[in-house]
Amino acid sequence: MSDAPSSSPRFDRATHLRKNLDALDAMLHDERTLIVPLHRTLHAFVGDARTELHLPTLAEAAELIDAAAELVWLGELDGRAVFAADVTPIGNPLNHRVFARHSRFDELMTALPSLPTWQAELACYARALLFWHARHQYCGACAQPTRARDGGHVRKCTNSACGLEHFPRTDPAIIVLVTHGDRCLLGRQRVFPRGMYSTLAGFVEPGETLEEAVVREMREEAGVLVKNVRYFKSQPWPFPASLMLGFVAEAENDVLAPDDDELEHVAWFTRDEIASPTRPDFFVPPKYSVSGQLIAHFMEEKNGGVP
Ligand SMILES: [Zn+2]
Repeated sequence: MSDAPSSSPRFDRATHLRKNLDALDAMLHDERTLIVPLHRTLHAFVGDARTELHLPTLAEAAELIDAAAELVWLGELDGRAVFAADVTPIGNPLNHRVFARHSRFDELMTALPSLPTWQAELACYARALLFWHARHQYCGACAQPTRARDGGHVRKCTNSACGLEHFPRTDPAIIVLVTHGDRCLLGRQRVFPRGMYSTLAGFVEPGETLEEAVVREMREEAGVLVKNVRYFKSQPWPFPASLMLGFVAEAENDVLAPDDDELEHVAWFTRDEIASPTRPDFFVPPKYSVSGQLIAHFMEEKNGGVP
């Protein structure tokens, strides 16, 4: 369709427009405005050979704006407004005119590996914000209802004696590639897909630096003492509200004392053992994830070092 976004559109959060009610209202009357629909936690997708986000225009789906439980202005995609809409109130979406013919609804985590990067980023942004709205309907200070403002980027308490503003939250989590010589540390949780091994991860606690969280989590989960903690890269992980912060670190020694409650198995792996595993169903996370990129980085290092 000629009115679809280009294959790699430029996305701009255009944060200066969030408080501009006239601009937001004009966007809600522009037929080219795009909608990112979510039904509970499920995104709408189209496409058989290749999964794509279903991004109906206002011309196609204006009634979703009126039906939405929550509406969030995300920004501009090649200059076109984009809103995330919680369409849960429409009931079974597959019975709705907009979705009945071509859409399917699925968890974003399932679809992430096959989505174009710009769509994955847009979907993560939409999911994180709509989840936050769903869980912050009431003020944590006075328990009265809150109401969205600033294009959906703030919720303000409706109790005039309180008036507290609540902002979207992101929970930092660290994920770490620990090396010892020419081996790296991988483990699996019981909830992982069969055969999948990943770098170890955990949440940052209040009052703690990221580096302290890395040292604490590696000690708690694997009983391994680490040093030379260095930042690698980050990834939004809105399941439901995390920011994954990737690190590399070196183990003081190769002694492991894993926590059986946290991990089903944890072990040191050489590059050969990852590339040519003896366990037939062994696999590591795909490259779109920080864990996959950390492991790929380890595999590409020729001399067993870390960056
Ligand atoms: Zn309040």
